[in-house]
Amino acid sequence: MKRALMIQGYENGGVKMLDIGMMQKGFLCAWGAKIYNNHQATFAAIPTWLLKPIVPSLNLSTVNSKFEGLCPQERVKCLPEFYQRMLKEFLDSKEICGELNLGDMIWNNSMLQYHGHVLNFEGWSSVGLVYVNQILGIDHKILPYDELFRLVKIKAIFMFEYNALKHALQQCTIKDEVEQREYAVSGTLWGKAKCKDYVQNLLIKSKERPHALNYWERNFPNVSGKWTQLWNICYTTTTEPRLKSLQWKILHRVYPTNILLKKMGKSHSDLCAVCHETDTLEHFFVDCMQVKPMWQRIERSLFNNPAENRPGITNEDKIFGYKFNEINNYVLENVLIMIGKLCISKFKYGEYPNLCVLLERECAVRNIIL
Ligand SMILES: [Zn+2]
Repeated sequence: MKRALMIQGYENGGVKMLDIGMMQKGFLCAWGAKIYNNHQATFAAIPTWLLKPIVPSLNLSTVNSKFEGLCPQERVKCLPEFYQRMLKEFLDSKEICGELNLGDMIWNNSMLQYHGHVLNFEGWSSVGLVYVNQILGIDHKILPYDELFRLVKIKAIFMFEYNALKHALQQCTIKDEVEQREYAVSGTLWGKAKCKDYVQNLLIKSKERPHALNYWERNFPNVSGKWTQLWNICYTTTTEPRLKSLQWKILHRVYPTNILLKKMGKSHSDLCAVCHETDTLEHFFVDCMQVKPMWQRIERSLFNNPAENRPGITNEDKIFGYKFNEINNYVLENVLIMIGKLCISKFKYGEYPNLCVLLERECAVRNIIL
């Protein structure tokens, strides 16, 4: 099984396995928010000093550039590796925004480029010119040269910088929103986001569709689009790990029948030893002549009252669960089906003389009367 699948939540067929790499990335990203929220604190003094030239607002969520394009590159390269990774992981986790608002940061903003590069003029940001609305007049045009020169006062390159910025601003339409766009991480605003929010975000991005789903949907079209409910059955029907994991393995089609065992070199044939048919999962648990009497026993026990006129259990029910969209009303039915499959597994790979007797015993230890 792939790691990307195992780390997913239960509702996507995963087992919530911890992914250390993802936790580290989450921690790095969350550290950025921590510095921003506590930039007066002693612990934040050094990182603030390191980051200010690159992110003058200290608010990482206002940086609208990919890590590779960050300016000034020489400053980025001089950052300790930890902070380089922090910037990289954070900026990779968010999309580039394709519009420019009045409240956006001017620097390291992909919407404001000169010859294909984002801008970052330290002289300007060091006197507090950080946001777009600070350098625009009411007509949304850049303030006159003299007015900005009085603020920035860096003689030699000011004219170049002013014109580069003017040119960049002319290239885009500026939306009237003054309010700063807050980047949300898994529904939590960036400034409040914690490590777990970033991990959640990364999980959503790395969402992996289990391979088995294609097979099931081709052969059992009814289950299409109902996977959240189907995974749910593994967890809501029972608290017993053995039953849960068996159902999980069946749904992922990783339960070892002779097909899989032959591939692994553990069996000479991929046929069922009794019926000599291909030992698919469906054959193993449903169609095999060895298991049919047991299913009849379960069916008799569940639907012994003909007046109720309830339909029996179909092959689909035996694999996926009975009425899985109303699982809460059919817990007993589903537990019995799971116990049935556990008995088949124990019977075929163990040394039990009789499957129905085994079923009765397994039910008795769980206080279920057949
Ligand atoms: Zn068979």
